[in-house]
Amino acid sequence: MPNNRYKVAVIGAGFAGLSAAKELSKYDEFEICLIDRNNYHTFLPLLYQVAAAELESEDITSPLRGHFRKNRRVAVMHCRVAEIDHANKTLHTDGPDIRYDYLIMSMGSTTEFFGTPGAEKFAFTLKSLEDAVRLRSHILSCFEQASLYSDAHPTIYPNVSGQDKTDRQSALKHIIIIGGGPNGAEFAGALSELVRTSIYRDFPEFDRNSVQITLLEAAPNLLAGFPPLLAGYVRERLEKMDVTVKLNAAVTEIRKDGAVLKDGTFLPSETVVWTAGVRATDLAAETGFAAGKSGRIHVLPTLQIANRAEIFVAGDLSLPEGETVPPMVAPNAIQQGIHAARNLVRLVRKQELQPFVYHDKGSMAVVGRGAAAVRIGTRTLTGTIAWLVWLAVHLTYLVGFHNRLMVMFNWAWDYFVAERSVRLIFRSWKER
Ligand SMILES: Cc1cc2nc3c(=O)[nH]c(=O)nc-3n(C[C@H](O)[C@H](O)[C@H](O)COP(=O)(O)OP(=O)(O)OC[C@H]3O[C@@H](n4cnc5c(N)ncnc54)[C@H](O)[C@@H]3O)c2cc1C
Repeated sequence: MPNNRYKVAVIGAGFAGLSAAKELSKYDEFEICLIDRNNYHTFLPLLYQVAAAELESEDITSPLRGHFRKNRRVAVMHCRVAEIDHANKTLHTDGPDIRYDYLIMSMGSTTEFFGTPGAEKFAFTLKSLEDAVRLRSHILSCFEQASLYSDAHPTIYPNVSGQDKTDRQSALKHIIIIGGGPNGAEFAGALSELVRTSIYRDFPEFDRNSVQITLLEAAPNLLAGFPPLLAGYVRERLEKMDVTVKLNAAVTEIRKDGAVLKDGTFLPSETVVWTAGVRATDLAAETGFAAGKSGRIHVLPTLQIANRAEIFVAGDLSLPEGETVPPMVAPNAIQQGIHAARNLVRLVRKQELQPFVYHDKGSMAVVGRGAAAVRIGTRTLTGTIAWLVWLAVHLTYLVGFHNRLMVMFNWAWDYFVAERSVRLIFRSWKER
């Protein structure tokens, strides 16, 4: 039935969109158009490891076309959706317009700066592959700059001396991470390992402990939503790894040369990384659909927009009606993507649609080699066993055999040789 198929547009090939497209591709009555501004899917939970020079970009991404080679009913379209004209069931993109009968919106989220002055302009974000590569280059490039101005080369820079030189060195070697959620905590741990292994070996002119990593959290505890036992464990581990953890430390301003805390303290640094908040992508606000917490689009329990039965919303973008708000995490996005696809099948087959119920599989955070904090149901695990669980879960969810193999190899290399292999700088210092 080639011309009678329902045309489904799926915007975004993240966890939700990719799962939805894969699920729908099993049913012959649909022709699916999967649209993404990138031609690859990114495994975001390991993004910080790219920024910390632990993994290559290719290890955590998979080309979209590769997923659908054997299914001609799925067209992958590499373009950016600029506007959703739901009255005319048309997407305006930076390429051609795309018509649809049914739509699944899964464009994910973006960084929320909570209006903090200077944050958008001066802070680094960690939300996309480009962010991670840019941040990695910047951090490594700061160490190179610090080396240029170190005492190892006194004759090259005779005019840079005294306090100026010391201050500049410390700012270049100070990394501030704002946000003590899993992302910030994991990144702090990974950076500490990078510094303690490769960096001190590569830069023998650096005094040991001269590189500072500061993790700032506005709340009284790290890892909001984790059991206190696990949050305490992660904090202790990070402190053992020479990360300075500051709690109740809200940031009120970010400047070109550092961050200001609410008590007025100024922390000089050339690298301020913002991991503190997420909100729905900007395109969500432009659709005109009712939005709730963090700009997420209100949907019925079936994941459809009220009075717009043909539009489903899945993943970070979606805020289903109900007593519990599903968290903005990968398992929720995968579950919603599959659920939206199955409900769409029910819709066209005139069957009763099912409400979405989020199955919480737990939460986890890793803090360097051999240490993690894991919650599965009401059970909590820490230490090496938790780390092995973390490894197994991430390898299982990582898309593609090649990626799993490469990640396993890089982790093993890192574990046994304590050496980071990805230390290339592209552009920077401050983008040259
Ligand atoms: C650094 C980081 C670490 C994380 N760690 C974890 C973790 O350890 N565990 C966990 O469960 N969750 C984690 N998360 C959260 C998890 O990744 C998200 O909840 C999940 O990715 C949401 O899936 P999604 O499909 O809704 O959106 P995404 O995965 O963000 O996908 C959205 C897709 O839409 C595309 N897109 C957006 N706008 C457009 C447009 N206008 N036109 C075309 N394409 C568009 C994007 O390119 C992207 O491919 C992390 C997130 C980040 C950023």
